[in-house]
Amino acid sequence: MLFHMPARLYFGSGEINNLKLIIDEYLKVKNPVLVTDKGIVESGLLTNILKLFPGIKIFDEIEPNPKSDTINKIAKEMRKLNPDLIIGFGGGSPLDAGKALALLGTNHGSIEDYEGKEKYKNDPLPFLAIPTTCGTGSEVTWVSVITDVNRKFKMSIKGPKMYPAVSIVDPDLIKTLPPKIIASTGLDALTHAVEAYLSKPATLITDNHAVKAVKLILGAIEGAYDDIENHHTERENLMYGSTIAGFAFGNSDVTAVHCISESIGALYDIPHGVANSIFLPHVLSYNLPECFIKMATLARHIGIDEKDDMSAAKAFIQKIKALSNRLGIPLFKDLKIGKDQFEIISKMSFENNSTPSNPRQLEQEDYHNILENAYES
Ligand code: NAD
Repeated sequence: MLFHMPARLYFGSGEINNLKLIIDEYLKVKNPVLVTDKGIVESGLLTNILKLFPGIKIFDEIEPNPKSDTINKIAKEMRKLNPDLIIGFGGGSPLDAGKALALLGTNHGSIEDYEGKEKYKNDPLPFLAIPTTCGTGSEVTWVSVITDVNRKFKMSIKGPKMYPAVSIVDPDLIKTLPPKIIASTGLDALTHAVEAYLSKPATLITDNHAVKAVKLILGAIEGAYDDIENHHTERENLMYGSTIAGFAFGNSDVTAVHCISESIGALYDIPHGVANSIFLPHVLSYNLPECFIKMATLARHIGIDEKDDMSAAKAFIQKIKALSNRLGIPLFKDLKIGKDQFEIISKMSFENNSTPSNPRQLEQEDYHNILENAYES
């Protein structure tokens, strides 16, 4: 059983205040650049940091589902600055963009050249991850997900040298998150935990992190959604849950939910967390015959009291569906993707590298049926 987590992780409210110390005394670098997005700049979260690093170059043009042409354009400008550290500050999009730029800081060419595992020739620049959504777990995974704009495809660029050197997970940074994004990114983290637990490559170690994450996230998400400012414990538990869900799926895998959400993210630019939230209960229903005992275990961990495993597993799925409704997650049909697109979505989902990790075997036709079932309910 192998478990990777080489990033040095600082966790807790106020940890962001140690950023300068970590850069000066632990990383000992002199020329960092910062990768973020316009929403973060507008949120005011960077104000104090910028006072500590006057003149630091900020690349703030990262978009959701970060695009290859944006990364390649920034890389050209960034290389001229010879940075010795990339700081990614934001949700999964700036973090994944930062990882990709760290790779391009020491390797020539375009990001498309490095799709797949360990395609880099030289070790990427050190990367410091600061997540501000609750969220993707990118701060503890070795993968960067970048949309190849020409192929309309979400590429995974990954390898053991792509882990962040340092991650600072400060739950206070999600205080400015709008409820809609708390809902979608919190349910994204829940999806990571549930999928990691049910995936074929799951291990004892990933199971332990996954179960703990499910409990933390389900116990915290509603309070955080209702009033993030006044729910300190919920903020902390959501961020802790999101990070350890990253430990879990980063060392096992995701399943068919992500295969679908990556496809519709690439094709129609749908936010990642929204897509995962929509498809999680429907993929669980498909997987029920194969893994209702494991789903029942999750159900009992969150206090669902059903005697037989099948009833407990079904109640778990219902709980997730009800939660999505309560948190305002749209229906699939609300995304305005026509049913004529199901063929291409199911083909791309079937071809996704994580399809073999799904606990129940899936053919392209099965993906098609899941899309049909999810459309209106
Ligand atoms: P995101 O990074 O795209 O951010 C969504 C929006 O939230 C942006 O407009 C941003 O400005 C805003 N925002 C973020 N933090 C904020 C804050 N604290 N206050 C106010 N606004 C804030 O969203 P995400 O869901 O975190 O990331 C999605 C991306 O992560 C996708 O591209 C997905 O593929 C990727 N991902 C990567 C991994 C991995 O392991 N590398 C895992 C899962 C998902």
